[in-house]
Amino acid sequence: MASALVLNATYEPLSVVPARRALCLVLADKAEIVHHDGAQIRSASLVMLAPTVIRLRYVVKVPFHRRTAVSRRAVFVRDAHRCQYCGGTADSIDHVIPRSRGGAHVWENVAAACRPCNLRKRDRTPDEAGMRLANLPRPPRDGSWVAVSVGRVPEVWKPYLARAS
Ligand SMILES: [Zn+2]
Repeated sequence: MASALVLNATYEPLSVVPARRALCLVLADKAEIVHHDGAQIRSASLVMLAPTVIRLRYVVKVPFHRRTAVSRRAVFVRDAHRCQYCGGTADSIDHVIPRSRGGAHVWENVAAACRPCNLRKRDRTPDEAGMRLANLPRPPRDGSWVAVSVGRVPEVWKPYLARAS
């Protein structure tokens, strides 16, 4: 199912919704189509172009700091699917300070890791295990929640997301 990027009236990216839901907002006159790719949505009586980007006709207030929730998928997106210890393909999540030792499940304490590194580190800190993180774990940049929700960001969305960061 195709997705549409929803922009605030100010052009700030707000969310990602199914194209059909985006079309409902347009039909209800709550949004306008900014971009479509020519694909069609059919209902019993209508054939409509499926929007890929819509813009709301009114301004939605968003919290100043929108934080992407910590999830396995979100951590892989942030760390580009690379093990933060050896650079190999990541297939697990490491808690830098192990949970068994009070480490929290927060952006600053999670890193993508491969299974061998995860096994080698066990319930130790990187220092104790003699391992080094490639990057200091941080919350992802604003706008990366979009990549998390769709996996891969369509080209036509990129200009709108660049404005946000
Ligand atoms: Zn590794």
